[in-house]
Amino acid sequence: MFVLLVEDDPELGRQLSSWIKGEGHRLHWLRSGTEALQWFADQRCDAAILDVGLPDLDGFAVVEGIRRSGVEVPVLFLTARAEIADRVRGLAAGGDDYLTKPFAFEELMARLEALVRRSQSKQPGVRRLGNSTLDPLRRRVICSREAVELQPREWSLLEVLMRHEGRIVPKPYLLEQVWDIRFDPGTNVVDAMICRLRRKLEVCGSNIKIETVRGKGYAIEQTHP
Ligand code: CA
Repeated sequence: MFVLLVEDDPELGRQLSSWIKGEGHRLHWLRSGTEALQWFADQRCDAAILDVGLPDLDGFAVVEGIRRSGVEVPVLFLTARAEIADRVRGLAAGGDDYLTKPFAFEELMARLEALVRRSQSKQPGVRRLGNSTLDPLRRRVICSREAVELQPREWSLLEVLMRHEGRIVPKPYLLEQVWDIRFDPGTNVVDAMICRLRRKLEVCGSNIKIETVRGKGYAIEQTHP
């Protein structure tokens, strides 16, 4: 894979570069947040490792910037700060994972590879269930009566449920896959979006149904042929 590293500490930067290259990956190393934003204007990588404490823009601001311009690369933050507030801020900014310094190189590589696998498995293809087709290009669901546009997260939520058709999908898994949240945010964000999806499916004449399995999660199934 091709990794972008943004780290201002010369010693850590050198170590990480040689480790990651030693594992057979390509790597580009930048020292500041501004450089990283400029780099993403016309270049792409498979994963980015971002130091949070950078001399100019911090790592969170970099991720906010690249997400605003539609870059969906998986991002792993490195930070000396372990406070929960930072974790939440990092994930809310659009980061995917978090590693507190000092860390073991093996752990960094394992997390990085997991992030890349996850982002590749999220690459959407066309999915069909019952009379309903999920269109990845225009983010909509096409049913017998009509096609309905979906918000990006509604689309991802339906995609995850369809990928696990006939099985119960637990709420924490949905939070992780659709919102990139790996803790209980204590809100009914999932339930609210499920309600919206059900209404949209009904409007377009879909014969697939999202069931609530109390205390366990959600399952999608075809109701009639
Ligand atoms: Ca730093």
